[in-house]
Amino acid sequence: MMDLRELYQEVILDHSKRPRNRREMPEANRRAEGYNPLCGDRATVFLHLDDGIVRDVSFEGSGCSISTASASMMTEALRGKSVAEVEALFQRFHELVTTGPEKAAGPELGKLAVFGGVREFPMRVKCASLAWHTMRAALEGGGRATTE
Ligand code: ZN
Repeated sequence: MMDLRELYQEVILDHSKRPRNRREMPEANRRAEGYNPLCGDRATVFLHLDDGIVRDVSFEGSGCSISTASASMMTEALRGKSVAEVEALFQRFHELVTTGPEKAAGPELGKLAVFGGVREFPMRVKCASLAWHTMRAALEGGGRATTE
């Protein structure tokens, strides 16, 4: 049987090799670009908001496997959520990668809990957070986000 750590690595590897929702979205009504200068990761996040609900979310970009997997899993987690739920999940995710799984774990994080391990690697925290900061910049009206 696989231990939890291996399972986590499996999930991240799977999403980095076959990212979900990696496409441009012409009908997006929110978008932002993000950059993580420490690692060189770039992400553009597209949102289609309707009536305060995320109807669709996608991303484009290039970066390390952690940043790609995080963007991919974020898009899966956000579809169908309200802006308030998205904001709450952003806070939980941020807590998870900065304080660790012991404090931040909760059922609402679901598969995103796999990123709890990055806390031990400060550079990787930026990689895992890039898509989330970019998504938040898009929600706040677009423009650019940076992990610095
Ligand atoms: Zn990176």
